[in-house]
Amino acid sequence: MEKFVALKVKCPRCKKSLMDPYHTLHGKPTILLNIEHNNEKGKIRLCSYYGCYDSEADIELVDNELIHFFCPHCNEELTSKNHCEECDAPMVPLSMEKGGRIYMCTRKACNKHYLNFENVSDGLRKMYNEFGYF
Ligand SMILES: [Zn+2]
Ligand SMILES: [Zn+2]
Ligand SMILES: [Zn+2]
Repeated sequence: MEKFVALKVKCPRCKKSLMDPYHTLHGKPTILLNIEHNNEKGKIRLCSYYGCYDSEADIELVDNELIHFFCPHCNEELTSKNHCEECDAPMVPLSMEKGGRIYMCTRKACNKHYLNFENVSDGLRKMYNEFGYF
């Protein structure tokens, strides 16, 4: 577990932090987003460890169905043109505080996500190459 690195992310549109330091998962601040799923609105908190798929939602999420994610600050839906390699669902972009983006699949239980290294410092890139994640 000590090799896992926790992500700090912000909204790609309004650039406000999405981290919730008051609600932790695995000892780290969670990533807090608003969601819409099967005509219900709620909130989801994602574990910030890259490679950990634990999350807590306050509405019931059905496996294999799509979740819509919204920024809790600007209320914009977070969508991208990228589609999941595994299931073809749209991917949600989140900006990392140190540069670059992480993309998450919007299909419940798909768990696919990947990092995009655009503008990421060499130090982080090196860490990724050594450990496989950051
Ligand atoms: Zn926003
Ligand atoms: Zn976790
Ligand atoms: Zn997927």
